[in-house]
Amino acid sequence: MSAAHTACGTDDSLMAGGRCKLYAMNVAIFGGTFDPIHRGHIAVARAAAEAYDLGRIYFVPADIPPHKQRRAITPFFHRYAMVALATQSERNFFPSLLEAPGEEALRAPSYSIETVRRFRSLLPRSDKVYFLIGIDAFMDVGKWYQAEALLREVEFIVASRPGFSLADVAQALPEAMRPPDQVADAFKKRAAKGKMAVGGAVIHLLPRLNEAASATEIRKAAQSGRSLARWLPEAVVEYVKKMHLYEENAAHRRDSRLRARGLRL
Ligand code: ATP
Repeated sequence: MSAAHTACGTDDSLMAGGRCKLYAMNVAIFGGTFDPIHRGHIAVARAAAEAYDLGRIYFVPADIPPHKQRRAITPFFHRYAMVALATQSERNFFPSLLEAPGEEALRAPSYSIETVRRFRSLLPRSDKVYFLIGIDAFMDVGKWYQAEALLREVEFIVASRPGFSLADVAQALPEAMRPPDQVADAFKKRAAKGKMAVGGAVIHLLPRLNEAASATEIRKAAQSGRSLARWLPEAVVEYVKKMHLYEENAAHRRDSRLRARGLRL
C-alpha cells in the first residue's frame, strides 16, 4: 500500500490529513510515557516506518492520572513539548494530543482501545492503522482494559529486544487468544521476529534494534548531572536543561512547575 497522502488543513496534532485524502496510507499510533522521548523511540519509529511503509506515525504521550502513577511523572505538556522537539525534523512523525488532559467532561480517552477508536474515526476508512509498541510494554498487554477487543481491532507492530522468543509474545496475549500448548512449545525456539497471526490477533515483530536508550537510565543520568547528549536529540537536551527537568533540586522543580503553568518566565 502506498504511503502517499495529502493533508487538507485539519488539526494534524490530533489526526492525519482529514477526510480529503487522495490515497490510502498506513499510519501508526506510537504510545508511551515519553518521559523523556529518546533516540530509542525514534529508532523504533524509523524502523517501523521503513518495514511497514508507514506514511505517518503519531507519537501519543499518555496522560497518566496521579493515582495510576508508580512514580512522579513529568507533567503532560513538558513530555508533549519534548516529543514535538524530537520529531520536528522528521517529515512523517507527528506529536499527538490524542490523550491530552482536559476538563473532566472533555477528557480525552486514556485507554488504548478508546484512543485507537477515536484515532480511527478521524481517518479515512481506507487507511490502515497499526499500534506500535516495544516488547517490554507488550508483555503487559493481557492486563490492559479490553485487551482482546484491542488486539482484534488493530494490528500490532512490536519492537523486539534481545532474549525474547515468539513464545513470550504468545504468552503475553489474553488467555483466550493464546495458541494451544504444542504450538506455544514450537514458538519457544523461535526468536521474536516476523509476523504472527494467533487467536484473532495479528502481530508484526520488528527485529531488535541497537538503541539501548531507556528513559529510566536517562532520568538517573540527569539527576546525577551527566550529559544526556548520547540519548536525546539536541533540542530535547536543551529543553531538559532549560526547564530543569529530572533534577533533584526542589527549588528547580518548583520553578519548572511554575513555568509549565506560565506563572513565571
Ligand atoms: P521507562 O524507562 O520510563 O519505562 P521507556 O524508555 O521504556 O521508559 P516509554 O515511554 O515507556 O519509554 O516507551 C514507549 C514505548 O517505546 C514502549 O512501548 C517501550 O517498550 C518502547 N521502547 C522504549 N525504549 C525502547 C528501545 N530502546 N528499544 C525498543 N523499544 C523501546
